[in-house]
Amino acid sequence: MPKDVEIQPPKRYPKMFEECRARGHQWHHFPGLVDHPTYYTVKGTMSECVGCGAEVTRWMLSTGRPFGSPTMKYPVGYLLSRKDPQTPELPTRNDWRRSYIHSLGFREDAPKKKGNGRASSRNAVA
Ligand SMILES: [Zn+2]
Repeated sequence: MPKDVEIQPPKRYPKMFEECRARGHQWHHFPGLVDHPTYYTVKGTMSECVGCGAEVTRWMLSTGRPFGSPTMKYPVGYLLSRKDPQTPELPTRNDWRRSYIHSLGFREDAPKKKGNGRASSRNAVA
């Protein structure tokens, strides 16, 4: 039995995982239908993320009505586990987005155009 995936900050994961978690998956839709493993009246459409390789099968009835939950398959290392009490807290969605936008150069510690907490007579309003 493999050990639970070690939890690390978002930047330690593959870039494509970070991008998908921050911006969502980029689905490529496959043509055709797949059979449901249990119900012959249910068919699925399959899509694959071109970023991380995740797969989703969305199940539906012939009426077009969705059936149950989509079946998801994620690449190894994508899913994180809370099972191990020794692991630090899992990154939140915000953590993923923050890490991603920082990688794009948007940081809260970026120099500001004005305002350093001190009063400035030049910017004072009369
Ligand atoms: Zn993805």
